[in-house]
Amino acid sequence: MSQIDLIELAPKIFYLPGAVNVGVLETPDGGALLIDSGSDKDHAKKILKACRAKNLEPRAIVNTHSHADHYGGNAFLQETCAIPAYAPIFEEAIIKYPILEPMYLYNGVRPPKTLQNKWLMGTPSGTKILNEPGFKTICDLELELIDVGGHAAQMFAVKYGNVLFATDAVFGLPTLEKHPLQFAVDIARQRESIEVIREVEAQMLLPGHGEPTTDFSEICNANLSAIERANRAVFAACQNPSTLAQILARVCSTFQISMISVSSYVLNQTAVLAHLVELEERDLVRQEILENVLVWKILS
Ligand SMILES: [Zn+2]
Repeated sequence: MSQIDLIELAPKIFYLPGAVNVGVLETPDGGALLIDSGSDKDHAKKILKACRAKNLEPRAIVNTHSHADHYGGNAFLQETCAIPAYAPIFEEAIIKYPILEPMYLYNGVRPPKTLQNKWLMGTPSGTKILNEPGFKTICDLELELIDVGGHAAQMFAVKYGNVLFATDAVFGLPTLEKHPLQFAVDIARQRESIEVIREVEAQMLLPGHGEPTTDFSEICNANLSAIERANRAVFAACQNPSTLAQILARVCSTFQISMISVSSYVLNQTAVLAHLVELEERDLVRQEILENVLVWKILS
């Protein structure tokens, strides 16, 4: 297994770069508190190897939210190191019962096997519940948990010292370029969360996907612009009247997205629906049933 080294963000604060970044905080007893656990067992093995290369034995995990790439390594790390994991209360349910994710993406029915895959479901893991945002001491480290829902139903960014682990509240600029339609479940909250991130007093920001940055304004503005771009594309796709499937297809064609699996279809469909709900809340579009077909119309 190739070795990836921890990168220092500040004294005793590190991260392991990857498709999803994992935060590593050195605890007073020389251990490591992990922020997220990677996507799967292989990723978790790399995390453990990188920590042990610095003589930092994992002591606990804080999961920022319940997307499989952020908690999929829990089970291996918890078994191997006998450590607890913590997650926001709503997200804890999904980490414990991962079938909930493909289920909610698929109208609540038992999802087909094509949706029961590692991208949408991590290995189940028992976690302790983080009931509220705010200050929380774990492994003798005082963390500030900041509520940044919108991308997921509930999500906590973690501030420690001068570093903000922003998780998926904001994405790095190349990630935004590559994925013009970002996954979200609540667009209004997503925008609010970005403004919260902008105001955090810290020197360094690490997104869940992308490079660390000291320029909070740049990354927040880029993320807000990407949401605006997607929002406008969804609005423009509501040629009167249109079904969700038609709107989704038009948005994908606008951004030259080609959906190659049912998993990518339901993820993009959810993101488009989140935009439609937000547009309806602003009285820009309305949904109605027309001859037994649910359609969306632009309000003029
Ligand atoms: Zn996520």
